Formats: sequence, structure tokens, C-alpha cells
Amino acid sequence: MASLFTHAFTAIALAPVCAPRPGWKWIIPAGIIASDLPDADVIGFEFGVHYGDFLGHRGFTHSFFFALMLALFGVWLLRRRVPLTPGGRSWLGVYLFFCAASHGLLDAMTDGGMGIGLLMPFENSRYFLPWEPIPVSPIGVANFFTIYGWEVLCTEMRVVWLPLGALGLLFLTARKRMRTRMLDLNSQ
Ligand SMILES: [Zn+2]
Repeated sequence: MASLFTHAFTAIALAPVCAPRPGWKWIIPAGIIASDLPDADVIGFEFGVHYGDFLGHRGFTHSFFFALMLALFGVWLLRRRVPLTPGGRSWLGVYLFFCAASHGLLDAMTDGGMGIGLLMPFENSRYFLPWEPIPVSPIGVANFFTIYGWEVLCTEMRVVWLPLGALGLLFLTARKRMRTRMLDLNSQ
């Protein structure tokens, strides 16, 4: 897997790209949860679920279908906390889907472990992307305080944080400019 930090950062960077406003104080934490939740499948190891099983690590919870279900559930869960127009609710769904789906895609860019069940439950194969620049992340926060953990984080910062951070900043600036222009137009 890619690290929990990188999955969380992805959710933060994607917010300016497609998350509706207002309500970011609820929406972004929901995005972070959606982007990290697929790795909850490691709990299965405790109950005898094998790595390669449907519900095993990097299996169903890493699929696009699971991401879609998670997004729909998130929209339903946030319906009272974040009052949105129907269009805003659709964008919230898109944002949560991207957050959850990005998890499987980032894992598919790692150089170890089993592939990712991106197309489950329709197709049970495990996939990697053709480009695998991310070293497999250590499991558990404590293991990041090692030389290997630090190297993994540095690579993730270079390969994921930098381009996604730039994309997020670009959209943030564009949205701010658009809002200012709208306010100017309304005040004329
Ligand atoms: Zn994962």
C-alpha cells in the first residue's frame, strides 16, 4: 500500500479540484476517511481472511465499485451536515468517489505485494498499473520512523504530493479568482 499520509494528502489536494463549497470542514475529513478506509481490510487477517481472498487485503475494498458505494453512503451521511443543491451533492459524490478510488490506483502504483482488485466484484483479477514508482509502505505509524519508512515517504512526496499539490493549488487559485470575479459582477 501507499502510506496513510499519502492517501490523506490526496483527499486534501483533490478538494479544490471537485469538492463543492461550503462545508469543506465536513467534506475534507470525509474525503480523508474515504481515501484511507480501504486499508481497513487488514482487519481480515485477524479473522483468517487470506491476502488473495475477495475480502483480503487489496481486494474488494480497493475496487471502483466499493469506492462508488462509499461515495453514495458519504453523500447520504452528510446530507444534513452540509446543505447542498442537487448539483452540489453530485459533486460531493464525485469527490468522495475520487478519494476512495484513488486509494486503489495509488496502491496499484506500488512495487510490491499482491495486485489490486480494481474491478471486483465483476472481475476478480488483481492489477498493477504499468508504472510502479512507489515503494510498498510499512504497516503502522511506528514503522515510518525507520530509514526505509523515511525513504518511502520521500518518494511518495516526490511522485504523488508534488504533482497533486500543484494541481490542488492551481484549482484553488482558479476558484478564488472566479469567486472574486462573480462578486465584482454582482456588485456592479
Ligand atoms: Zn491499500
